[in-house]
Amino acid sequence: MGSQAMVKSENFDVLVVGAGMVGAAIACALGLKGVRVAVFDRALPASFEPDQLPDLRVSALSYASEQILKNLGAWQYMEAMRMCPYRRMAVWEKLHFPSGRELDKRPNQTVFDAADIRQEQLGFIVENRVTQLGLLKRLDELKSVTLLAPATIKSLNLKGSKPEITLEDDRLFTADLLIGADGAQSRVRDQANIRLDTREYEQQCLVATVEVEGGMQDITWQAFTRTGPEAFLPLPDIDGKSYASIVWYNLPENVQKLMKLSDSEFLEELSTTFPKELPPLVKLHERGFFPLARRHAMNYFANGAVLAGDSAHTINPLAGQGVNLGFQDVAWLAEILTDAHEAGESLGSSEVLQRYEKARRRDNQLMMSTMDAFYHAFSNDNAPLKVLRNVALGIAGKSTPAVKEVMKYAMGISGRQAKLAKAS
Ligand SMILES: Cc1cc2nc3c(=O)[nH]c(=O)nc-3n(C[C@H](O)[C@H](O)[C@H](O)COP(=O)(O)OP(=O)(O)OC[C@H]3O[C@@H](n4cnc5c(N)ncnc54)[C@H](O)[C@@H]3O)c2cc1C
Repeated sequence: MGSQAMVKSENFDVLVVGAGMVGAAIACALGLKGVRVAVFDRALPASFEPDQLPDLRVSALSYASEQILKNLGAWQYMEAMRMCPYRRMAVWEKLHFPSGRELDKRPNQTVFDAADIRQEQLGFIVENRVTQLGLLKRLDELKSVTLLAPATIKSLNLKGSKPEITLEDDRLFTADLLIGADGAQSRVRDQANIRLDTREYEQQCLVATVEVEGGMQDITWQAFTRTGPEAFLPLPDIDGKSYASIVWYNLPENVQKLMKLSDSEFLEELSTTFPKELPPLVKLHERGFFPLARRHAMNYFANGAVLAGDSAHTINPLAGQGVNLGFQDVAWLAEILTDAHEAGESLGSSEVLQRYEKARRRDNQLMMSTMDAFYHAFSNDNAPLKVLRNVALGIAGKSTPAVKEVMKYAMGISGRQAKLAKAS
């Protein structure tokens, strides 16, 4: 990696704003092909300590994301830190007697099992920081990539013939293309005058990291309730202790009440409300909450800038697809840009960037609409709809070809794949 002191008023092929999971991945993918990249972030993640308790922010990474991270050479570093494979995923809707007591039997439960599609696991639960650190370690090995972080961007200029970034210390950087991987509140998107289609969800998402009894599990589960899903994600064991990430979707007023409870009151509430599958809880480690919004950029590129990851789209996290879509953006954008680079095309040209938008917009839109359909179908007490969705879940539990297709879709292995997403 180039040294920070040497890069004054330098010209690159591509500038990337944001060295989060998506920005670091796109910089790696381009750097591996010899494209000269400068990547900027205002902050760097804290380094990894093996005995550190799990972070609050974790993601379920799909099979396709695993292949992308392996092909980029980051997976080995992530594995050396920690991750938790999951082989099964159970989904059901909580049903109650008129008295309010929950039904013991679950005719509407579906269990997705990796063995049914001859895979070892459905995916991995990984702390976001572990993924980002694995990618940054790989970046460090690539000569054509320069990381500038922590760095404060003073101005982003997209009005000239080439995109320009000026840092607070007045160093100037130019390139043929600027990639905005700067997350949901993207400054690049604003600067490029790209408008957003936004819908706020009624529910918020409370996430808690808890220590649990019973060893590391290989199943994630999600129970749908009227106020939102209750979900369990297993985390890797640390020093012989087991942990889990609990995701509790609820209305904002309920989330606020839960956030105000003492640790012991919160654990008590969790044990009494969550399904019986919840292992005995030992200790609450951390909790936080996230307002949820669906956002989709009206265009993926404009004025020499292009968007990837959360800067282009945010999605309801109920099926854990956000960064998986971001990694798919990375795989397609890298392939299209490196092909264009080799063919001598200008990386910032509309013809090149249109290929990327064509490759990604429909898929991102489809996943967003699928999540919305789930969200609205399950946040509704309408009796016929309730019967319909439970019949659907019950059928899904039995009809193997349909279940296999759903699993492949969630794992990112259905449809057309970019080269980077294929097993090597
Ligand atoms: C509760 C919750 C659970 C989720 N669970 C899952 C899951 O299970 N699976 C899944 O796939 N996804 C999940 N997601 C979504 C996932 O977290 C996001 O899709 C992912 O973090 C987006 O990555 P990104 O790199 O695009 O953006 P970010 O992670 O937001 O990174 C943006 C980077 O840009 C930098 N930056 C921003 N502005 C500037 C600036 N002006 N100058 C310099 N640097 C800047 C930031 O410092 C940051 O490093 C979940 C989301 C939520 C809220």
